Amino acid sequence: MTNQNLSQRDHAVLWHPCTQMKDHELQPVIPIRRGQGVWLEDFDGKRYLDAVSSWWVNLFGHANPYINAALKNQLEKLEHVLLAGFTHEPAVCLAERLIALAPPGLSRCFFADNGSSAVEVALKMSFHYWRNCGQTGKTRFVTLENSYHGETLGALAVGDVALYKSTYAPLLMQAIIAPSPDCHHREPGESWADYSIRRFAGMERILSEHAGEVCAVIVEPLVQCAGSMRMYDPVYLTRLREACDRYGVHLIADEIAVGFGRTGTMFACEQAGITPDFLCLSKGITGGYLPLSAVLTGETVYQAFYADYATQKAFLHSHSYTGNALACTAGLATLDLFGKDDVLNRNRELSRLMGEAAAHFADHPHVAEVRQTGMILAIEMVKNKQTREPFDWRERRGLTVYRHGLERGVLLRPLGNVVYFMPPYVITPEEIDFMAKVAWEGVDLAIQN
Ligand code: PMP
Repeated sequence: MTNQNLSQRDHAVLWHPCTQMKDHELQPVIPIRRGQGVWLEDFDGKRYLDAVSSWWVNLFGHANPYINAALKNQLEKLEHVLLAGFTHEPAVCLAERLIALAPPGLSRCFFADNGSSAVEVALKMSFHYWRNCGQTGKTRFVTLENSYHGETLGALAVGDVALYKSTYAPLLMQAIIAPSPDCHHREPGESWADYSIRRFAGMERILSEHAGEVCAVIVEPLVQCAGSMRMYDPVYLTRLREACDRYGVHLIADEIAVGFGRTGTMFACEQAGITPDFLCLSKGITGGYLPLSAVLTGETVYQAFYADYATQKAFLHSHSYTGNALACTAGLATLDLFGKDDVLNRNRELSRLMGEAAAHFADHPHVAEVRQTGMILAIEMVKNKQTREPFDWRERRGLTVYRHGLERGVLLRPLGNVVYFMPPYVITPEEIDFMAKVAWEGVDLAIQN
């Protein structure tokens, strides 16, 4: 088997996610034979450093021996059983451990099987909670400008990235879109906290006008990942929690991308000292091994559904693979690794090294900003550094960085003109330097002419 052979067969039968398939006439897909730590290896033996953790899911490297062993062990016992009417040890243990780790007050865990589904669950649960409480006028959701919550219709409706959303607009419920606290737009000299607070005024106004018809506000805490890795200050979340309480509106924290240590704390909400009404988790939950998601909520919500069957208050939502036993096992092994290896502390040092390795990008004549939150670092390429005028998206400058990265053995997958690092937590200082060096070369190539 060779790269060429497998990519040709692929092109004949597969339709890839998030891809204009015609692009592959010029650049075939890369078939991966195996993974090891931060490295992926193709069928021709070429290696790629996975700087984006395979769409932000991988935490402790590919083919992690500890997670592998746990999965092999579970495979001998039970691969899957439906989670309605039945349960199993990995699901119970994982729910217990997630609840113990999550911000205080979250005491119930509802499993689903991917991030978008977790968002759908949270939206439906919030709406249904108010309905069960007799508040049938609450039918809408507030979201932030530039947010992303997934691709299914409900999740897409509460997102705001035009690239993914606009085609489907006629199919979507109308969310109320609040100004984003995205600190890329702050004034020179203005702090992240000041800008985030200033932008909160828009949210406050929306809540004061619409609280009666709003079920929940949904946010990506601290980093709007798919929206070009835009970042904001925790104080925004503290204000938002307080306002949601004041106006009688739920707060949904979508930590699908930022949970499990990405922002420096186990969950991003911790940095604001808040507990959301719904916490959506996925991606890193299984260390990047298997699809799984969870929505955590508190007793007040749970009790509003807990009634005699005939009252029709139950939450009758399900996915076939909900709480899959292998996925939950990978989740438990992943949490073990956090405990065994003092990961959050070690990540502080890795984050510092990433910041150091990328600091010089700030002086690049076509870089407007280098921003970082924990283990996420983003570099914003622009046409004009002074005015911050962006490159035209049709020029696909990011694609040049992507191609250069592959040539040099680094999987960088820029979001438009934003190059970012979001590597597995097992990356070494030398690998960080290599990743930054290749990104620099890529940016230099991409900004030409
Ligand atoms: N929410 C956020 C914040 C995400 O980043 C993503 C995935 N990129 C999703 C939801 C959707 O998750 P999935 O791709 O597993 O459906």
